[in-house]
Amino acid sequence: MVYFNGKIISGEGVAVSIEDRGFRYGDGLFETMRVYRGKVFRLARHVERLVESASVLGIELRPILDDGLILSSESEASLRSAVSGEIAEAVERVVAVNEIGEGVVRIILTRGASDGFDFPDAPKPNLIVTARPFVPVSEERVRTGARAIISKIRRNTFSPISRVKSLSFLESVLVRREARKAGVDEGLLMDTEGHLVEASVGNLFFVREGALYTPPMSGPILPGITREVVMALASKRSIPCFKQAFFPEEAADMEEAFTTSTLMELMPLIQINGRPVGAGIPGEVTRTLIAAYRELVMADCGVSIPNPKSPIRNRKR
Ligand code: PLP
Repeated sequence: MVYFNGKIISGEGVAVSIEDRGFRYGDGLFETMRVYRGKVFRLARHVERLVESASVLGIELRPILDDGLILSSESEASLRSAVSGEIAEAVERVVAVNEIGEGVVRIILTRGASDGFDFPDAPKPNLIVTARPFVPVSEERVRTGARAIISKIRRNTFSPISRVKSLSFLESVLVRREARKAGVDEGLLMDTEGHLVEASVGNLFFVREGALYTPPMSGPILPGITREVVMALASKRSIPCFKQAFFPEEAADMEEAFTTSTLMELMPLIQINGRPVGAGIPGEVTRTLIAAYRELVMADCGVSIPNPKSPIRNRKR
């Protein structure tokens, strides 16, 4: 069962026009969330990022609300709050109705259909939420760590697309493909100026002399939610964290490296372009933060929540 524009319906029932701009131009956004023991980790932040990104792209969100809904005011803040509530509720309903314990939730938001390249006068965005079980990355994989290459493809420093989770995800797809062809796990991207800024699907961290370094948000990076969580965990443990980007030759001196993302959590990088990172094994700071992240997940979602099938209450549209 999925959420589709206000209703919980069977996945097969989702009918999106072939003129939809998400399908045609990648004109839309997505979010990926982890469900641990029936609870969505950092749901509010994911919804907030989606709503902020929709505003960056100028995707109208009012149409996703029930036509009859009266907002407390017509202010941007009131609209955002109502839309965020609708999206968060949709996510929780989909998780509950599918009885997801360990899982992944995806939100897709498109600008909707249009006749041609120009924008429709009355935009009708499409909002879809799906959930399915998810098998976490194996313990063995995290213990071994990942090998990466630096891709020939660059993240555009000047493009707003580099800073949102856009459906135009082809750049990352091609970077991952390049990595796989090279026989490694992940591809890292430089920005237009040559700083190492991101992984194909993840933010980037380095460790040197006990301190963390991660590229700043002023660069072309996605404001990763796992990145935020890791920085907060580091701060709690008095691990200094500097927002700084490096050129690949500077990164070669780093003692540890790891990527962060919702699905992979923290993944140690043990090799970049054939050269070992530090000792070529997951380092101590990385392992400390992996343990801290798991502790936090347990604290936030650890209590097993019975997930009774919620009754399907579809409103009229
Ligand atoms: N950067 C890119 C390009 C991503 O696609 C992702 C996740 O999909 C991330 C960073 C990590 O973001 P988050 O931690 O919010 O999953």
